[in-house]
Amino acid sequence: MKRNLVCIACPIGCPIEVELNDAGEVVGVTGNTCPRGEAYARTEVTHPVRSLTTSVKVEGGVHPVVPVKTAAPIPKEKMFDCMQVINAVTLQAPVAIGDVVVKDICGLGVDVVATNND
Ligand code: SF4
Repeated sequence: MKRNLVCIACPIGCPIEVELNDAGEVVGVTGNTCPRGEAYARTEVTHPVRSLTTSVKVEGGVHPVVPVKTAAPIPKEKMFDCMQVINAVTLQAPVAIGDVVVKDICGLGVDVVATNND
């Protein structure tokens, strides 16, 4: 089986073709122009991950919300669960860049951190 992807590891967006055997194992990657593309393709077809960026409510700050992101990519299928946790959070100002907003979200071993001050 073949999967066609567009690499999102950099803005060039190389078209990549991944060949999988019947067991779903990657047996070939073509079209990438650097090693990051192959790594992205292998992960994308076996265990896709994404960084989650969103915002969290803040009370007593300059703005009503502060932007946040996961400190590392998380499994794509966990995005909805993580958003439910994040949407339930309300921070108290002051908030500083790098503050941990949710520690070890959904037990994934990844923190959600603030990406701006408020
Ligand atoms: S394969 Fe390399 S050059 Fe091409 S989009 Fe991915 S990271 Fe960029």
